[in-house]
Amino acid sequence: MSFDVVVVGAGPAGATAAYQMGLAGAKVLLLDKAKAFPREKPCGGGLSARLLQRFPYVREFLDAGEVPVNPIRRVHLESPDGTRVTHEQENDPILYLIRRWEFDAALFRRAESVCTVRTGVTIRRCEVKPTHVELETTEGEIITAPLVIGADSANSVIARHTGLRTEAAHKEYAVDMMEETTYDRLQVADRESIYLFLTLTQTFGYGYIFPKTEHLNLGFGCKLDWYLTALRGKGADHHAEWVDTLKQKGDVTGETDRGGYKAFPIPVSGPLVKTYADRVLLAGDAGGFVNAFTAEGIYYAMTSGSLAADVALKSIRSQRYDGRQLSAYQKAWQREIGDDLRHSVEIQHRLFNGSGRMDSLVRSAKSDPELLRLIIGYSMGSARYDELRSYMMRSTVPTWVWSKVRAAVGLNA
Ligand SMILES: Cc1cc2nc3c(=O)[nH]c(=O)nc-3n(C[C@H](O)[C@H](O)[C@H](O)COP(=O)(O)OP(=O)(O)OC[C@H]3O[C@@H](n4cnc5c(N)ncnc54)[C@H](O)[C@@H]3O)c2cc1C
Repeated sequence: MSFDVVVVGAGPAGATAAYQMGLAGAKVLLLDKAKAFPREKPCGGGLSARLLQRFPYVREFLDAGEVPVNPIRRVHLESPDGTRVTHEQENDPILYLIRRWEFDAALFRRAESVCTVRTGVTIRRCEVKPTHVELETTEGEIITAPLVIGADSANSVIARHTGLRTEAAHKEYAVDMMEETTYDRLQVADRESIYLFLTLTQTFGYGYIFPKTEHLNLGFGCKLDWYLTALRGKGADHHAEWVDTLKQKGDVTGETDRGGYKAFPIPVSGPLVKTYADRVLLAGDAGGFVNAFTAEGIYYAMTSGSLAADVALKSIRSQRYDGRQLSAYQKAWQREIGDDLRHSVEIQHRLFNGSGRMDSLVRSAKSDPELLRLIIGYSMGSARYDELRSYMMRSTVPTWVWSKVRAAVGLNA
């Protein structure tokens, strides 16, 4: 059977792209190396409210109980010096916590209803020929199509083999070490809140506790080079120490499940310079679509997947697959999420540049509820960067603390 387009990777980016193209009548083949869905994906599973606005069918399947969800209205935020602030929102949730095991399977089912899907298929080579793209599986099978969407995550074969990702990986990635353990083993003081820790390990670091409906999810993120040079294969020990730290703080009780420990890379340097080539589009982590400050990626994966689908459908209709035609994708994501992602990289560089700025930011927010609301809102995707910036511009408090806080978001830096 021949296909209009092959999508490699059936996570949120690939499943969204495939579903949209299938609904529009395209002949789509969706491939994933996982043997079957549901499949494991290490993730905090925090969905921002804007994701539910952008993709109403997600709100529908959450409301219908197809995927268990814990809606969160309270956030505890802690700075490196241990200052803790709590923000609470009365009406709509700030974040929706799901398990990727269930969420990705729900997206996959939708794609499967309108596309051909194959699981247990790992792509190991991608070559763009003048008339088609050739994909080779680890079994030696050759799959061809006029167009490919690479949604094969942080270590994307499609991105590397097409020359779109060339940077030294250790500078571009973070590693998130986590576990998702049932409550009979590991408990949290407050199941209706999330906990965020701006921990700062050298140049980048955060910790989190995300309570799901039946599981406690907690983890710690750091830059990949720190993980490789300082932890040197001792990620699981570091994770156990992190759980002990959380116990000492009084946030967590019970025992870590060492068997459930997982580490996974996240691209945290913003989108790749170029996210398309002749006959190829990259979506999700494969294209670097992750917020570099918060490590939020699901919303950007689905949004980039959806925008890639729009452009792919036009290509299929016009039978034009050259880079010029596909460059419309780069313009589309720049319009919708480009500024947001660029700001996230700037904030990461400023805020994670020494713990002083984070301490000042959190201390200031402790006595300024509007600043706290904006910081949490920006971190959760509900407030815009401009709102945070202009609030700080309007503030007239002329102290050295303010100058540090302002530097953190790019004012008088
Ligand atoms: C520990 C951790 C916590 C996180 N927490 C959050 C959070 O709370 N909220 C949030 O929004 N984001 C979070 N993120 C980021 C988020 O998980 C990713 O940005 C998101 O999963 C990207 O979706 P994707 O579809 O691009 O890739 P993925 O979800 O990784 O899916 C890619 C798919 O491609 C398949 N694949 C890979 N290689 C191949 C191949 N060669 N051949 C065939 N198939 C292949 C994989 O099996 C997989 O199913 C977190 C990330 C980590 C690591």
